[in-house]
Amino acid sequence: MTTHRAILLAGGNRGDVAAAMTFVEGLLSERAGRVTAASRLYESEPWGFECRNRFLNRAFVVETALGAEQLLDVTQQIEREAGRNGMAEALERACTGERYASRTMDIDMILYDGEIIDTPRLTVPHPLFHVRPFALRPVCEVAGDVIHPVLGRTVRELCREACEAEEAERRRAEACGGDNEKPLRLWDDDLDDLSI
Ligand code: ADP
Ligand code: MG
Repeated sequence: MTTHRAILLAGGNRGDVAAAMTFVEGLLSERAGRVTAASRLYESEPWGFECRNRFLNRAFVVETALGAEQLLDVTQQIEREAGRNGMAEALERACTGERYASRTMDIDMILYDGEIIDTPRLTVPHPLFHVRPFALRPVCEVAGDVIHPVLGRTVRELCREACEAEEAERRRAEACGGDNEKPLRLWDDDLDDLSI
């Protein structure tokens, strides 16, 4: 039996995300294959949209006999069982006009062996992985030596560069004064009460 090595990134910012991570790891072991490594939990600011709730992310390395799209079926089903609610996300996006919304659990396939996949349902390596420090940090912990098949660079190199760019941006914003402070949106907590 051929086994593949997939690197997944799980993340969320609604509800008890730490507990959801444990739930996700259990279901991945049952349905996808052996979870050979799991990173620590990394906390980060929402990326690409304004929201008061911070994200928690964890990377998993999974040895699986599943094909990439079969694995996506499994991770999407696990997202739903972990409480992901597409209707609530769509409603939040409609209210805020933002591209992204708060979520209980999102599982992205970052890498699948060294394959480059581009189908209507799946793009691997994940197209924004290499510019997202919140994704690179946990993946670097479990797969720093892995080479990005499109960019030909190790995850560790990409992580260092993205983190340096993030730090430079933070200093630049700081030097420009405190007008980059994010407004609180008082109804963020209410989103958890939406039952759609
Ligand atoms: P996002 O992760 O960008 O917030 P979603 O989790 O809602 O968005 O996923 C949107 C679609 O992205 C899914 O229906 C899935 O088919 C597609 N997709 C494409 N490439 C990937 C990938 N590498 N990992 C996970 N989903 C992917
Ligand atoms: Mg996703």
